[in-house]
Amino acid sequence: MVEFPIFKTKIEGSPRFDLADPKQRGEYFQLKAGLEIEKMKKYLDGGSTFIAYLLGKKNSGKGTYSKMFGEIFGKEKVFHLSIGDMIRGVDKELKSSEQRESLIKFIRENYRGWMSPDEIIETLEGRSTSKLLPTELILAIVKREIAKNKGKVIFVDGFPRGLDQVAFSLFFRDLVDYRQDPDVFVLISVPDMAIEERIKWRLICPKCNTSRNLKLLPTKFIGYDEAKKEFYLACDNPECGNVRMVTKEGDELGLDPIRERIKIDQELLEKAYQLYGVPKVLLRNAVPIDKAEEYVNDYEITPQYEYTWNEKEKKVEVIENPWTILDDQGIASFSLLAPPVVVSLLKQLVTALGL
Ligand SMILES: [Zn+2]
Repeated sequence: MVEFPIFKTKIEGSPRFDLADPKQRGEYFQLKAGLEIEKMKKYLDGGSTFIAYLLGKKNSGKGTYSKMFGEIFGKEKVFHLSIGDMIRGVDKELKSSEQRESLIKFIRENYRGWMSPDEIIETLEGRSTSKLLPTELILAIVKREIAKNKGKVIFVDGFPRGLDQVAFSLFFRDLVDYRQDPDVFVLISVPDMAIEERIKWRLICPKCNTSRNLKLLPTKFIGYDEAKKEFYLACDNPECGNVRMVTKEGDELGLDPIRERIKIDQELLEKAYQLYGVPKVLLRNAVPIDKAEEYVNDYEITPQYEYTWNEKEKKVEVIENPWTILDDQGIASFSLLAPPVVVSLLKQLVTALGL
């Protein structure tokens, strides 16, 4: 088991920040990690980069953290390489008559493995989603993406499934040697319960597809359906005309459909932790309630929203409290908002890179 230390981001007497507001978030980052931001800026402006491998369960916020890194240092300096998206992109290339040929040429020239290129292409074309692509092929395509993004910081999100211990370390060794800049593992710990609640209360706008959360991230318009006796969110995007947001099919099942996947993600994380020679950044999302006061400012904790219906005035009343969950050890905890986790990421990255 990997021990994730609690990271202290608390500053006594810190002003309150609304971390959902991009401008205030910027000021918050300056207050909490101004020195590290300056060092990192200098490093990046000098033309240096790094590759960070994000490891953590599905829905652990990997995309959010790299997006916020881009928010601080400039989107053009950062590339979020999602392996899942990349593989879906390969499917599209195969179907496009112009791109198909150059992809096949690339595979012939770069793939070193045990399948013939023709077999590979057959596998790619006849593949059901459950069938795994050879690791060597994924490796070759990852390298192609890395080469396309010279001069950028790369956050690699996701790994080939079903790697055994040896294949796993070979995968990294091979990538680590591919580009000359430093590599860092970023291991992310999020309790199952946090992921489950995010899924269960998720609502989607049927028009613009924006995703919000009835319990954790409401819109400005919270409604009450008197017939069904339930609360709902209306999309606050002006173009959507206050349309009622809906649940996505399967979300009510919570973690069940992805439990196996989450177990594998966790195993990969543990394996990465044991791999020597690559510095590691440890990010944790949950803070035990009895430690929160010492380690974090209250505005860094994810709030939860509960609603009651005021029958007399015909309006919804909102009650805001810190969101309480149990971590994977069963300890009552608060869940941090993304920005304090990014502060911890910045500080640890500066140390890992020796800046
Ligand atoms: Zn909408």
